[in-house]
Amino acid sequence: MEDDALPPPVTHLSSPKPDTAPALAPGAFRTRPAQFERAAPAAGEADSKAAWRALAARGEPTGQALVEALEAAGLSADDPRLTATRKAFAEAGALDEASFALPGDEACLVRAALTGALAAGDFPAFRGRITNLFHYASGVSAGKVAAYIPQLAKADPEAFALGCCTIDGQRFELGLREGDAAHRFCVQSVMKPMNYALALELAGETVVHAHVGREPSGQGFNEITLNQKGRPHNPMINAGAILTAALIRPGLPVDKRFDLVCRLWRGAAAGDAPGFDAAVYASETKHADRNHALAYFMREHGCFPPEADMHEALELYLRCCAIETDVRRLASVAATLANGGVCPVTERQLVSRESVKAVLSLMLSCGMYDFSGEYAFTVGLPAKSGVSGALMIVAPGVAGFAIYSPRLGAQGNSERGVEFSRRLVQAFPWHVYAPIVAGA
Ligand code: GLN
Repeated sequence: MEDDALPPPVTHLSSPKPDTAPALAPGAFRTRPAQFERAAPAAGEADSKAAWRALAARGEPTGQALVEALEAAGLSADDPRLTATRKAFAEAGALDEASFALPGDEACLVRAALTGALAAGDFPAFRGRITNLFHYASGVSAGKVAAYIPQLAKADPEAFALGCCTIDGQRFELGLREGDAAHRFCVQSVMKPMNYALALELAGETVVHAHVGREPSGQGFNEITLNQKGRPHNPMINAGAILTAALIRPGLPVDKRFDLVCRLWRGAAAGDAPGFDAAVYASETKHADRNHALAYFMREHGCFPPEADMHEALELYLRCCAIETDVRRLASVAATLANGGVCPVTERQLVSRESVKAVLSLMLSCGMYDFSGEYAFTVGLPAKSGVSGALMIVAPGVAGFAIYSPRLGAQGNSERGVEFSRRLVQAFPWHVYAPIVAGA
């Protein structure tokens, strides 16, 4: 075939112009310490001076201008790290240089926000680029809403929302239509990395992996199959997740164990408690034949530890699938993983760095069911999807993203979520091996 008879490169026809100037620092994994780069108290003065210069450079320095500049940098009006600053300046009028002093332990964050030193240095530009990708992804109309859990079949196929939270706690949400951004949905399998993290924290890696493998299964998420050692393949598929639930404080009543899980979700969502979708729980419990079959199959093969009760493990698993969230909370959860287990907004260490490393490793290799290899190849970021249409994407050391769009592809992943992921790494050099290409 003659060269000019070749079809054009289809992949770029409908893509946004490749946009490679990063608005966020790429490359080396970095996380913020549990206290935002809090320096010695004396540094507060230097931070105040630097913040003043940045504020004055923007125009008339007023209290309101300061508060607005913080929000423009992506730090929300309810950010608990800036309570004293907002209190001191929200009502203040014109400011003068001589008396300008920021509250000591907030000065560093304010300075970073005003001088463009947060993860997203130019936050409006960053948000604009993500919004662009979101709109491209909204053009995808392929996929079907999951129907094997009757309550899930009622989801609105058009709903589409995105949440983003950087490792410095800069946040925003987008919705395709009014109400989408605040829409609440159940997490389904997106609970699996969190339960795995909790099991690692409570039982330790050795015990967890004596019971659950860490290889992709290469099969559907609810396949009745065990690995060669007679264990479930990994904690990101149903069998492994039921067994992981069995390892979360098996001696306690299920209510208390579920509380532990919810506490982790709340902590990672910056203190915003998750909800519980009772209708989905009831619907799924009634139609859980496959999960019962998996549990009995594993019990027959001696997979459960002696102290664990299979029925309770299953109940805990199903309850966790019905945990309800929204893209704002879920993005904060993803950002907590991106930030080495420290919630960026509250600066609390919720999960150890070792556990986060394990969780992200298995999200990268197993988080997207039997699409995981393809996703790791093309996107190269740890992610986890659920049949509700939820998707959590982690850009380690940079940010966490949450997607909700209930139309699923053949492997049970949100179609728009996958499209957004592809475009995200076209626009930003965050694929795990992108630095190799950048260094060429
Ligand atoms: N609750 C669902 C199930 O057990 C979770 C599966 C999923 O989200 N992929 O079938």
